[in-house]
Amino acid sequence: MNTNAFKDMLKNKGYKLTTQRRGILDILIDNSGNHLSTEEIYDFVKVPYPEIGLATVYRTLQLFEEMELVDRLNFDDGCSRYELRSPDQLHHHHHLLCQSCNKVFEVDNDLLSEVEKDIEKKYNFKVLDHNVMFYGKCQKCRE
Ligand SMILES: [Zn+2]
Ligand SMILES: [Zn+2]
Ligand SMILES: [Zn+2]
Repeated sequence: MNTNAFKDMLKNKGYKLTTQRRGILDILIDNSGNHLSTEEIYDFVKVPYPEIGLATVYRTLQLFEEMELVDRLNFDDGCSRYELRSPDQLHHHHHLLCQSCNKVFEVDNDLLSEVEKDIEKKYNFKVLDHNVMFYGKCQKCRE
């Protein structure tokens, strides 16, 4: 995402582009696939912006969530984790959680279109998104 597109998105919501907001977005871009928690994002962002507070990071992530820039994830470890929403993906991708090493893997394909069709027909319900987590053991932990 370039700065101008980001600036426009913020402007549409009545917010200004600040260096701290841009800094937090950059950290999310640099760590795509890492599912950082609020505290982890804070640890990264306070290196270039030592004056930033945890509350600001928390509020900024809430704002990004409202803007549908990021998805908030719960991996059963008691903290909210964030990842950028990919604009070419209509529905959220799935996650594989290894119960031995707690690593999270991504499943790129949606794979659920048949299930979604069934649900829409059977329950007369329009599926807009889903949040799927598979639990198990990764390849490394099974070796
Ligand atoms: Zn789907
Ligand atoms: Zn594992
Ligand atoms: Zn993910």
